[in-house]
Amino acid sequence: MDMVVRTNRAPNAGETLMGQAFALSPGGKGANQAVAAARLGAEVSMIGSVGKDTFGSEMLEIIKQEGIHIEHISVSETEATGVASIVIEEDGENRIIVVSGANMELSAEDIQMLAPVIQQAKLIVLQLEMDLAMTEQAVAIAHGYGIPIILNPAPARRLKDEMLSQVTYLTPNETEAGILAGMTVDSIETAEQAARILLQKGVKNVIVTLGAKGTLLVNAEGTKLVPGFPVKAIDTVAAGDSFNGALAQQLVSGKSLEEALRFANAVGALAVGKAGAIPSLPYLPEVENFIKHVSDDK
Ligand code: AMP
Repeated sequence: MDMVVRTNRAPNAGETLMGQAFALSPGGKGANQAVAAARLGAEVSMIGSVGKDTFGSEMLEIIKQEGIHIEHISVSETEATGVASIVIEEDGENRIIVVSGANMELSAEDIQMLAPVIQQAKLIVLQLEMDLAMTEQAVAIAHGYGIPIILNPAPARRLKDEMLSQVTYLTPNETEAGILAGMTVDSIETAEQAARILLQKGVKNVIVTLGAKGTLLVNAEGTKLVPGFPVKAIDTVAAGDSFNGALAQQLVSGKSLEEALRFANAVGALAVGKAGAIPSLPYLPEVENFIKHVSDDK
């Protein structure tokens, strides 16, 4: 659950300020990505954990209303629901503290028990907001069953080569690509260099998201820039999440990787055109109309 405070400026140590506005907003990378895929028509099951508290019941209700299966979201007896405390200053500058809470409780042993659930999936999508050993185990299980894996390596951290070698689609943004590859990424050229380092570690497809510029796909067949859809950005929250959810839905529905990336770019563009995380995620007809209008205008 995102707790968003708007203020003229952030307080100094020991200082108390009167803020301008407060809002609770359902979020979290996993939830955003799951809802993005579900709104586009995918059948989605989510694995995770919430606390036995108001935020936990609210998050479960919101996710359930999107038609997502919630049987494998556990309710912790001891830990609180994961939250992000977000302070946004007048100039848009933000400061965020994430407390994972219940999400950190799900262990490698717990995910092993859910191997039969993973086995039924056509594809799995993971982020790095939960316990890393659990995430590594989930990747290993899916890889063992030959199930394609999208790993959105956010928030950024270095990952073991063994884990990377099992990933089918790795979707870092430029900063994350730089951290994973151990170099600075600030251009399409450096994004490609970083992607090549990650390919050498065994990732099958590296997909670097480039904001308004779109996406760079690097794999054994070569490098391809899949251009973005220029829009007026209102709020870039959940752009990457909507992109990942859309990519998953498209791949599961049998689209080629390039078609899937073009569609996911359109979904990312629609998400930046609206405020909020989950409220900004589009439904299928909206995306189809958007792509059609862009094609008609050309
Ligand atoms: P990012 O995480 O910022 O790289 O964004 C993820 C994806 O969302 C990008 O690959 C684009 O498809 C889309 N996107 C992000 N920002 C914009 C923007 N300003 N205009 C159009 N599309 C965007």
